[in-house]
Amino acid sequence: MRQKIVAGNWKMNLTYPAALALTDEITALLAEAPAGPAQPLVVVCPPFPFLAGVGEKLPKGGPLHLGAQNCHQKESGAFTGEVSAPMLASVGCEYVILGHSERRQHFREDDALLGQKLKTALAAGLKPIFCVGESLETREADDTFAFIAKQLKDGLFHLSNEEFAQVVVAYEPIWAIGTGKTATSAQAQEVHAFIREQVARAYTADAAASVSILYGGSANAQNARELFGQPDVDGGLIGGASLKAPDFVAIIRSF
Ligand code: 13P
Repeated sequence: MRQKIVAGNWKMNLTYPAALALTDEITALLAEAPAGPAQPLVVVCPPFPFLAGVGEKLPKGGPLHLGAQNCHQKESGAFTGEVSAPMLASVGCEYVILGHSERRQHFREDDALLGQKLKTALAAGLKPIFCVGESLETREADDTFAFIAKQLKDGLFHLSNEEFAQVVVAYEPIWAIGTGKTATSAQAQEVHAFIREQVARAYTADAAASVSILYGGSANAQNARELFGQPDVDGGLIGGASLKAPDFVAIIRSF
C-alpha cells in the first residue's frame, strides 16, 4: 500500500505567534478527532522563519512532519537572502515543495533550475513534493496530458530510480488553485492515473505503484472525501484550508 499524505502549504501567510497557535490547534484536534483505519502522514509547510519553532512543537513519533515551501539550488555560499536544503534539514524538515506553479510563474523557475533544486534537496535527505499542473488555457486547448507529460519528463524524470523513490508528486491544476474551482474527482483521477502511467514508462511498474500522487487546488473539508476516494489520488496538497485547523483536520480525517 502506498503512503497516504496530506500536506498543508501555508504559503506567505500568518505571523510567528499565529503559526505556533495553528500548530497547537492542529495537534490538539488531531489527538481528539477519531482516526479511521487508513491514516495519512501529515506534512505542514510553514514559511522559512517559522520552521524551527513549528517543528519543535510537533509531537515526536506522531503523524505530523515538517516541510518547507522552497529551497535554493546550491548547498551554501554567497546567495544573500536564500535558504539551502541542508539548512532546512538541520531544522528538522523532511519534505520540501518544489515546482509549485506560483514559483514557476512569479519567480520564473524552469525545468533546469528545478532539476538542480531536486538534486540539492535529495542530497540533503529531503523528500521533494514535486508539483505539476496545467493552466486553464492549456486545459481548454485539450493539451493537458501533453503538458503534464512534458513537465514530468523535463522536470522530474532525469532522476535515478533511487532518487525518484524519495519523491512525492502533486497534481495542482493552476485554474483550481485558490479559485474555489476544484477539479472534479473524475478530472483529478484521470490526470493522476496518467501521471502514474508516465512513471511506469519512465521507471518501473513498482515505482508507479509506490509513488504517492497528491491533488491540490481548492481542496477542502467538503470535497476531500470524494477526491481521496479515487484510486490514484493518494492525498492532498492543501493551501487555504490548511490555515484553519478544524478544516485541515477534517481533510486529514477524510480517508
Ligand atoms: P488552495 O488549496 O488554496 O487552492 O491552494 C492549493 C495549493 O496551491 C497548494 O500548494
